[in-house]
Amino acid sequence: MNPYYIDSAEYLRRYFGAYKVQKLSVNAGFSCPNRDGTIGYGGCSYCDNSTFTPGYCSAQHSVKQQLEAGKVFFGRKYSEMRYLAYFQSYTNTYGRDIVTLKSLYQEALEVKDVVGLVVGTRPDTLQQQVIEVLAEINRDYPVFVEIGAETSSDATLRLVNRGHTWADTCSAVRRAADAGLHVGLHLIMGLPGETSERSLQSVADACKLPIESLKLHQLQIIKGTPLHRQWLNGETEVHCYSLEEYLNLCVRVVRIVPHNIAIERFVAQAPPDKVISPQWGVKNYQFTQRLHKLLEKDRQ
Ligand code: SF4
Repeated sequence: MNPYYIDSAEYLRRYFGAYKVQKLSVNAGFSCPNRDGTIGYGGCSYCDNSTFTPGYCSAQHSVKQQLEAGKVFFGRKYSEMRYLAYFQSYTNTYGRDIVTLKSLYQEALEVKDVVGLVVGTRPDTLQQQVIEVLAEINRDYPVFVEIGAETSSDATLRLVNRGHTWADTCSAVRRAADAGLHVGLHLIMGLPGETSERSLQSVADACKLPIESLKLHQLQIIKGTPLHRQWLNGETEVHCYSLEEYLNLCVRVVRIVPHNIAIERFVAQAPPDKVISPQWGVKNYQFTQRLHKLLEKDRQ
């Protein structure tokens, strides 16, 4: 057990006890309102969705087929393995009528050993009707809703073309939590123009909301994104953290997150050939080992 904060494994134990639970990503062919013109065009300046869609996910295959492929991809490491269907790519509560949405979620739950859903979305596309559908499923299977907040600064949200506000995030979190859903927030550390103090402010603001978990990661400049172009042209101020700086920032994050809120992730790892900066060359487990060493020191 990790003695410093509630990590993803421990968080999931709250709901699934001794079972080992693996998240399997699903690309159900959703789109994004910040790309198709409903909210904006071009998307968030840092976004390249392909960097967080695993190779075994293709919208050309059904939800069931993708989940079966995911099970094979991860192998059955433990006999007591169970799975969460992770609707991860783009905005997974958007652009489909409510009957279609419901059937996609239900299809996932029909796959053997899938014991719950994780649904990634934006705060401005979590309509009450969708919340009600998810809440109904949540009576039988835990539903985790991951909302991309990214920062609590409206100025930064405008700068990176997110197309929503911090007030949208607060509203979505409260409505989802009131319906009994398990809410997690995504935040990005080091967005353009943000100091580490500003990023920590976002963490503190997030922790005042009724969330169960946080997922953080360092800003990465991904090849070919609007952010990459802005950075090359000197149009944006980005401080890409060194590994040491980022580890120290994460220690400060752990200090301020209340112990009942899980920290499911600190780092993102886009494919190395797509990352312009930062390039740390460490695997996730190595990052975690170094962080835990620093946290141990921090306790003394
Ligand atoms: S980060 Fe999410 S909301 Fe932003 S453009 Fe990408 S898919 Fe759309």
